[in-house]
Amino acid sequence: MNDGTDAGISPETTWEELESACLSCKKCALYETRTKLVFGVGNREAEIMFVGEGPGEHEDMTGEPFVGRAGKLLDEMLEIIDLSRGKNVYIANIVKCRPPANRDPLNTERDACIDWLRAQYRLIRPKIVVCLGRISAGELIGDADFKISRDHGRWYDKDGVRFISLYHPAALLRDQSRRPDTFVDLKSIQREIRKICERTY
Ligand code: SF4
Repeated sequence: MNDGTDAGISPETTWEELESACLSCKKCALYETRTKLVFGVGNREAEIMFVGEGPGEHEDMTGEPFVGRAGKLLDEMLEIIDLSRGKNVYIANIVKCRPPANRDPLNTERDACIDWLRAQYRLIRPKIVVCLGRISAGELIGDADFKISRDHGRWYDKDGVRFISLYHPAALLRDQSRRPDTFVDLKSIQREIRKICERTY
């Protein structure tokens, strides 16, 4: 992922300026149907960033990513490896506004929105990025042949930043047989954190 400076957002842009500009974004048609834009949540100095696909119904109502049942499951997954939102991770999405009826975000919507995420990435400068689900992984890992069922838990190095993907928590709610694989992937993340992160978790 590049650093967002090609978005017209300068290296000097602060979090406050970025959030303020993003909250009034009308770069794609999703602004017409959103209730609340979902900018992101968590520790803005975290070394670990989690990235999902886009807001669902509960997120659209509250303005916070990963609330509702999938959000509760994500919190439980984080807890397994001593992480929590607000404490030591930052959580955001590929698109900031809810696609109607929870459909996949269109390529045009992802292209319109990705610069906000790039700018968040530039400000955070994470050591580890965890992609939640196939859409996030497809967008950020950049492997045209990527398949979440095969490639979840696999590490990728991009300019010194470590990228990995997990099944999306909503997919884990639908199919519990994927949970043992996700536990293994979480433990792999924990080992990587211990290896490369400066803070103790
Ligand atoms: S989805 Fe992204 S690009 Fe589209 S209106 Fe919302 S913030 Fe802007």
